[in-house]
Order: sequence, then structure tokens, then C-alpha cells
Amino acid sequence: MNVDLNEFSDHLGPEKILFLREPDVGLEAILVVDNTAAGPAIGGIRMATDLSVGEVFRLARAMTLKNAAAGLRHGGAKSGIIGDPDMADDRKEALVRALAQAMRDVHDYIPGPDMGMTEANMAQIHDEIGRVVGLPPVLGGIPLDTLGATGFGVAIATEVAEEFGQVTIDGARVVVQGFGAVGIHAARFLAERGAVIVGVSDSRGALFARGGFDLDKLITFKMEGNHVAEFPEGEPITQDALIASDCDIWVPAARPDVFTEANAADVKAKVIVQGANIPATADAERIFHERGVLSIPDFIANAGGVICGAVEYGGGTEREAFEQIETKIRANTSLVLERALADGIEPRTSALAMATSRVREMMGYRRRF
Ligand code: NAD
Repeated sequence: MNVDLNEFSDHLGPEKILFLREPDVGLEAILVVDNTAAGPAIGGIRMATDLSVGEVFRLARAMTLKNAAAGLRHGGAKSGIIGDPDMADDRKEALVRALAQAMRDVHDYIPGPDMGMTEANMAQIHDEIGRVVGLPPVLGGIPLDTLGATGFGVAIATEVAEEFGQVTIDGARVVVQGFGAVGIHAARFLAERGAVIVGVSDSRGALFARGGFDLDKLITFKMEGNHVAEFPEGEPITQDALIASDCDIWVPAARPDVFTEANAADVKAKVIVQGANIPATADAERIFHERGVLSIPDFIANAGGVICGAVEYGGGTEREAFEQIETKIRANTSLVLERALADGIEPRTSALAMATSRVREMMGYRRRF
């Protein structure tokens, strides 16, 4: 694997880039600890076949900014296993346990769930090294994906966009890309506020229903292990067509770089609420800004999961977690939008300035000798 360190390093980090391998089990993994000025870094484990150091670094940086913006006493990191997330459970367990052992001594990293990982996988890490968030309730965990901590935060961020006059949620047509832990609950919490879910996708396909889906039925269908494109309502469309589909709110909740220079001009939504991490390239964000499409950055809108994880790690309750998610995401989204709209700058620029200055201030307290 070729890595150009210059591509990844700046004044904030990363502190460590580790390749973790266990040939006997077939483990190939990457761990990036970006910045620990706030404390031991929290960040999920992703599983994907095409994972790169660049992707893991960008995700780790997003965690540094997200945790600082949320005022958590945790820095940012991310790790990833290179492999098919749909592999058999026992094979995945072997890789997860091997990864846990490989990072046993990296004490400044607290792993959690990300795409392709389950609560059961977090329990396996707990069993191996006892240092993890996102555990099942029986182990003291707050089941953030079952409760929809991140999806709830996405809905709160959307409420703030409404307060700033960018969209009306009641009756808004919503597209959700990635009907998983984040996407399902974002859809559910937005639907509770009157939105109509008109488009959904997962890794196997996309579906559009102009008049809206029966969301409860669609969620049950997906939870039963089916793919959304097989759902009997709506019309199958391509993933590209979903990007350009007729809607008011677009929630990316899957992979990085979904929006690029090539497709950002096609987006018809007025508001994009970034449930996924790094779903838009810098060029795409610029085009959104030029076109008046409000894009609420990932590390502001999708902080619900890590806030929940931090509350769990500190021994707090589900209720405390949801209160903190609401308070912190409402305050941060308001701050970011206020500055962005007042100064005519991209929300991401405003969010980056806010989070980076917090990280720098924390770094000022670090030992320098
Ligand atoms: P998940 O594995 O539960 O769900 C991901 C969904 O995306 C699945 O339905 C999958 O089929 C689908 N998907 C994968 N590739 C796709 C593609 N190319 N096109 C359309 N759909 C695709 O994962 P998750 O936990 O919901 O995470 C989704 C995103 O949200 C990731 O970017 C993750 O980093 C981010 N995120 C998650 C949390 C959390 O609390 N789970 C918190 C913050 C950010």
C-alpha cells in the first residue's frame, strides 16, 4: 500500500497511522489516531472491501472535528477492516477479535461501531480488550443504532435549517441514501415531524415513490433482511438518478464522496443534511453553496452517535444521551448556520473554523517538552 504522508498531515494530526495485519486470520486493517488533545480518541470501525488509508484518515479527522465541536473529552480516530461486510458472522467475528487484539495496546483509541459493524461485534471487542463503545444494553451499553441516536441528531439539525427558513419539514419530500442504522432512523424522525420519504437506497439499489412510502412497512421489510429495491412500492431507479431526484431534503447516510463536481449541479433538494461521514467533495460543497443549496456538514449533523457513545463511556443513561444530542446539535447547527448565512460562506467553512479553533485551543494545553 503506497501512502504519501504529506497528503495526510497538517497542524492537527494525525498522531498515528497503523496497519494492523494478522495473516493467519486474514486480517488487514488500518487505524488512524488523528488528534488526542481532548482525550482518548473515539471513532468507529468501518468494514468495506475498498477501504484506503486516505478514507480512514479523512474519517478520523471528521471525528476530531466532530468530538471537539460537540465538546466531548475525546479526540478523533477511525479504524477499518478491509473485507466484505456481508461475510458470514463467524468469519467476521474472527476478524473483529483479531483487530481488537492488534489494537490492545493503543490505549488512546476507543473503538465504536461504523458501517458494517454490529453491537455484537462491539461486545466481542469488549470481551477481548474491554475498551469500546456501542455495547449491547446487557453490557451497560446504550444501543445507539437501535435507538437511532444519529438519525435523531440529523432530524434536529434539519429543524434548525427550518428555523433559518431554509425548508419546511412538514410535507417536505425526503431522499435517504443508505437505509441502514443512520438512514432508517433519520427517515423515521423526519417522518414524525411530517416529512414524506420519497426515495431510499441501499448497497443493492434505489427506489423512488413520488407520493411517499409506507415507512413502517419499508422499515420492517428492510429489518427482515431484504433490500429496498425489492420493496413492492415505488419504482426502482439508479443510484445516480436518486441524486438528481425531485425532493426537498437529501440525507446521505452511506459512503463517502457521493456528491462530486460531476453531479452536485444535478441535486434538486434545497437542504442536504449529512448523516454520512464525508459524503461530499470540497468541489461539490462549493457548487451547493453557489447554487443556494444548504449543506449541513457531517461533523455537525451526525454527531448523535458519538455523543451517545461518550455518554455510555462515562456511565450515563439513554435519556442523558438524547438530551445531550438535542442540546449540542441544536446549538452547533445554529452557530454554524448563523455565521455561514451572515458572512455568505459555506456552512463547512464556518463549521471548520469553529471546530478547528476548539482543537487548537485544547492543543495549547498539551505538554510541549
Ligand atoms: P449501516 O451499515 O448500518 O448502513 C449503511 C447503509 O448504506 C446500508 O443500508 C448499506 O446497504 C447502504 N450502502 C452501502 N453502500 C451504499 C451505496 N453505495 N449506495 C447506497 N447505499 C449504500 O451504517 P450506518 O451506521 O448507518 O452508517 C452510515 C453512514 O453514517 C456512514 O458514513 C457512517 O460513517 C455514518 N455515521 C454513522 C453513525 C452511527 O451512529 N451509526 C454516526 C455518524 C456517522
